[in-house]
Amino acid sequence: MDTETIRKKIQEVKYPGFSRDILSFGLVKEVSFENDQVFVTVEITTRDSAIPEQIAKSIKEKVGSIEGVNEVKVKMEITEPNPNTNTTQANQPASIEAMQKVQFVIAVASGKGGVGKSTITVNLACALQKALKKRSQSTKIGIMDCDIYGPSIPLMLGAMGQPQVQNNLIEPIKNFDISTISMGFLVDDDTPVVWRGPMIMKTIKQFAENVNWGALDILIVDLPPGTGDAQLSLTQTIPLNGAVIVTTPQKAASEVARRGARMFEKVSVDLLGVVENMSYLMDSDGTKQTLFGEGGGASTAKALKTPLLGKIPLDTDIRKGCDAGIPIVVNKEDSQATKEFLKIADSILDQLFKETL
Ligand code: ADP
Repeated sequence: MDTETIRKKIQEVKYPGFSRDILSFGLVKEVSFENDQVFVTVEITTRDSAIPEQIAKSIKEKVGSIEGVNEVKVKMEITEPNPNTNTTQANQPASIEAMQKVQFVIAVASGKGGVGKSTITVNLACALQKALKKRSQSTKIGIMDCDIYGPSIPLMLGAMGQPQVQNNLIEPIKNFDISTISMGFLVDDDTPVVWRGPMIMKTIKQFAENVNWGALDILIVDLPPGTGDAQLSLTQTIPLNGAVIVTTPQKAASEVARRGARMFEKVSVDLLGVVENMSYLMDSDGTKQTLFGEGGGASTAKALKTPLLGKIPLDTDIRKGCDAGIPIVVNKEDSQATKEFLKIADSILDQLFKETL
């Protein structure tokens, strides 16, 4: 017997609900053996006691099947996220030096693409800035665009240029006083998507560790759409204080959104709420057309026991703002969409600052 054989067996133990193994998630702290006894120590932050139980059972089964092993002792070092606060430090991601002066990190996620996640991210960034200003607080906002397949944040925010590197740190590009880093700055449109896939974790790690974020009040992480392993590892790499789920009113979309949200549950990141996008179209005579059905946001929020933060209408000015690189929250302050974004921002701030207010 040797530890390499044992580690190989542990690699067969998947994190419950995911196809990735616990070793590659960095949860295995120690592996040793003495005669026919194996000792495994696992470190995990979760509220769900079923997860460590299942992992321990699976380790015992797998490692116990190695010839010569008589007993497997699994030590679970479980850290409970603080139950009194909505500002959970996620599943023990390393405290990243470049992000140390960032007060809050929130993720914007969706179960699938095309629901307007990036649109919500840029407008929310501008709305948070305004809401912080109204509270006479510092208004430094950043966006980390992790959607490496379709990085649209730079265009939507009118942020252009080539990021400079100083003292081994990448300088984010600023527009509307929002510091942004995106794969869109680093690759051209012709870079094949197949090349980007394997780069996802590497890129995100670099976005977290090698960007000169400096002092920020809130950093918004625009996650790639979906609920797969890349998203899960990302939520474990970056210390998240909360997550916002974007969905549309359709039933199908909201079911996918719920699956996405459960990923945050698994890694003990609290949900800040649900934003329903493309909720309705306001006719010129003032009637609301519900093109994509109704109730998806509310039912998603209810199922996830989190607030419905707001409903963003379908509005050509939102799309035009994205195309022109001037978000509607900046461009059309009196629009219904802007008012809704400001309401959403206020609710998020209330939750984040709940400890200090
Ligand atoms: P995702 O990030 O989920 O893939 P995007 O934010 O890129 O989606 O949005 C896709 C397209 O839909 C963009 O062209 C955007 O301008 C448009 N869009 C998103 N939300 C709205 C809305 N509420 N009203 C009008 N257009 C919208």
